[in-house]
Amino acid sequence: MTIRWWLALGLCLPSLASACDFEEVAFSAEFEGGKLSQCEQLGDGHFRLTTVAENYPINPSPWYAFTVVSKTGAREIEIELVAEQSRARYMPKISTDGDTWETVPFTVVDQQFQFSLKISDQPLYVAGQELWTAEDYQQWMTTGARAQRFNTTVIGQSVQGRDIVAMQAVAENNKEWLLVIGRQHPPELTGAIGLLSFVDYLAADADLQNAFYNRYNVLVVPMVNPDGVANGHWRHNAGGKDLNRDWGEFSQPETKAVIDYLNQQLGEDERLAFALDFHSTQQDIFYTLAPESGAQPTDFVTRWLDALKASRLSSFTVRERASYREESHVFTHYIGRTYGVHAVTFEFGDNTPRELVRHIGQQSAHELMLLMKD
Ligand SMILES: [Zn+2]
Repeated sequence: MTIRWWLALGLCLPSLASACDFEEVAFSAEFEGGKLSQCEQLGDGHFRLTTVAENYPINPSPWYAFTVVSKTGAREIEIELVAEQSRARYMPKISTDGDTWETVPFTVVDQQFQFSLKISDQPLYVAGQELWTAEDYQQWMTTGARAQRFNTTVIGQSVQGRDIVAMQAVAENNKEWLLVIGRQHPPELTGAIGLLSFVDYLAADADLQNAFYNRYNVLVVPMVNPDGVANGHWRHNAGGKDLNRDWGEFSQPETKAVIDYLNQQLGEDERLAFALDFHSTQQDIFYTLAPESGAQPTDFVTRWLDALKASRLSSFTVRERASYREESHVFTHYIGRTYGVHAVTFEFGDNTPRELVRHIGQQSAHELMLLMKD
């Protein structure tokens, strides 16, 4: 029974919970990162589920995440998953515990996913990518070598009042800073995994790392868009804005919190040395600043990527695309223009194997520290 059908009858709008609770099968998105907008039963064991973006227009990044339970014992059901005003992107994955995921066979008909699910009386998670939300970040930040290396600080609040949390390693006499941010775009999970392994490598207790922290302070904001992540947004924050089009404008509390905190931390004689922003897209690619940005040192990123090319496994392609626009409100362009240094949008492919993402995250951190120490 769709929400539209209820509206057509002039009845009051039922909650999603009741609209997706059928006689034999119940769907729910009532959890952090959950996203399911409309449910409709098409026939026996056959359902159409729809995800609607937080607002339009929006980039084609239709997120979905829900649980499904059978009320009549183990059975198989058919799903048509509709991304409203968009098309299939993130391959469906299932999990019984929310931690371990596997992809399910699917077809794409009229640009939308169709797939079967084997369900039982235990909730089965179905999502476009792995779920990784505030609780997971919190757990990650406060355990392991990270907790030894970094202090965590709340640097501001999102539109809906969620904490924006930073990790930082600061030594009194250091004059230079490395800035790392992630999760401006909620569904971009491979970018999130890349950031985690990059930061894990930065945090390790070894000679290279210890020497690095004798010269550099590090500021990491792993989840810039906590409302988007919690609400299962396709791309925007709760203000309906693409945060990676807000740098320089600072119309949203999330971008403003990051830049205000950075500027507050940068003392008179201190400077930003480099910045990285983790994302996901259709392929692994590094969006870098073109020479006309004036970012210094001129060959810094070229040397970093050349070192990565030489040291990563040969089946990973290091692709680079350089650009610069003076009026751009993309994070990296703003950093280049404002601080005169390089910044890179580090994009992993949606479907890049997770072990490869972790390897490249670590290897890129290793090569970056080697380069920055000279
Ligand atoms: Zn992105």
